[in-house]
Amino acid sequence: MAGPPNSVIVVGAGPVGLCLALALAQREVTVTLVEQLSDENFLDQVPRAGSNHPATLELFDQIGLYDKLEPRGIVAPKFHYWDRQEGKLIAEFDHALLKDDTRFPFVLQCERIKIIEEALKLAKAHPLIDVRMATTLNSIEQNTDGVRAHVTNADDEAEVLAGRYIVSAEGARSIVRKDIGVEFEGFTYPERTLNIEVAYDFRQHGYTERNYISDPVEYSNLFHWKGPPDRWRIHFPTDPNEDETALTRPEAMQARLKRFLPLDRDFDIKGCNLYAVHQRVAKQFRAGRAILAGDAAHVNSPIGGMGLNSGVHDAFNLADKLARILHNQADEQELDRYERQRRYIAVKHTQAQTIRNKRLLEERDPTVRQRNHDELRRSAENPELARKFLLRTSLIESLREAEQIP
Ligand SMILES: Cc1cc2nc3c(=O)[nH]c(=O)nc-3n(C[C@H](O)[C@H](O)[C@H](O)COP(=O)(O)OP(=O)(O)OC[C@H]3O[C@@H](n4cnc5c(N)ncnc54)[C@H](O)[C@@H]3O)c2cc1C
Repeated sequence: MAGPPNSVIVVGAGPVGLCLALALAQREVTVTLVEQLSDENFLDQVPRAGSNHPATLELFDQIGLYDKLEPRGIVAPKFHYWDRQEGKLIAEFDHALLKDDTRFPFVLQCERIKIIEEALKLAKAHPLIDVRMATTLNSIEQNTDGVRAHVTNADDEAEVLAGRYIVSAEGARSIVRKDIGVEFEGFTYPERTLNIEVAYDFRQHGYTERNYISDPVEYSNLFHWKGPPDRWRIHFPTDPNEDETALTRPEAMQARLKRFLPLDRDFDIKGCNLYAVHQRVAKQFRAGRAILAGDAAHVNSPIGGMGLNSGVHDAFNLADKLARILHNQADEQELDRYERQRRYIAVKHTQAQTIRNKRLLEERDPTVRQRNHDELRRSAENPELARKFLLRTSLIESLREAEQIP
């Protein structure tokens, strides 16, 4: 059952599975990477995540991915908090304050779709990675020596793949997580988020590349993405009782956009999507030789852009440990450390912060709102407080803290 002596099966060629495969291969580990989508439809996915924080850029750089992404993204050193009620900027934070903490004192706005396109090319070119596109994992079994993954391959045939370990980077609907009977603890918000992408330059109204906009009625996030043509994505919370067709009617979206920014003509809408927001963490990140990473292990609201980032951090943490185990430099207890470190970060940092971020933007109590805004202003105006704030939002603090967990 063991397969090649140091092989790992990675399920899912999302950002987490691809980074894990590349980081393992860099550490001389053979990888079979299984992806259900084919070469033909791999890029037909919603662009999704895209704010890549400094700590993540350092990791992309380790596997040669950063240089591929920078030309396709937007370097965004600053981000803003706005008060929509007053139409005023509350605070501006500048990553330049992190110049002594990271080689990348900025966020790179580069969508998931571009990340996986570039990372897949690197994976296909690597001699230690066997990329199996159009191959779907159906179930797994394991014993003390290894794992077997039952898949349906590109020829639509049942096939069994063998390896020493299997990592589920399959995203939130992980089959491995269900197969090993691990609960996905947490909750789902009743309202869904509507994303509308428009070709319109919001910088002419004072916005920067990344903006969090607080409003007791309809908070928003506004982000800039590289084109051509450049697009700006605005997120709005929606009424749980309204159906998707009504919410995404062009006239309804135009009205929503014009409430946000009155314009004497229609916005040039380039796309939209509606999605449910979950806050969940798997009760365990590992059962024997089956390990969870990325969205398979934890999902959160996208406010703050932490899902993809923290998933990529899982991937590099795990790659180090798996490689040392497979090269007989560490024992399997290292995998328990992976779980202790990354589950702690998922609960105490990612979940806590994304829940806080949403509360901050939607706060209804005027006194609490005022207090929150004053605090943001105070932090932004004091370089020491601002650096502390940025260390947290850029996920540098969470990586440093994870390292301290034995
Ligand atoms: C609208 C939106 C905006 C977001 N914005 C941000 C942001 O700004 N910053 C951020 O950090 N996060 C953001 N996120 C979250 C982010 O997209 C996810 O956290 C991230 O994509 C998770 O990566 P992953 O590799 O774990 O899983 P996924 O990206 O979901 O990839 C899973 C892969 O596994 C494949 N797969 C699934 N099942 C199987 C199977 N059985 N067999 C074989 N292959 C399989 C899938 O086809 C897919 O390719 C956003 C999410 C959404 C929805």
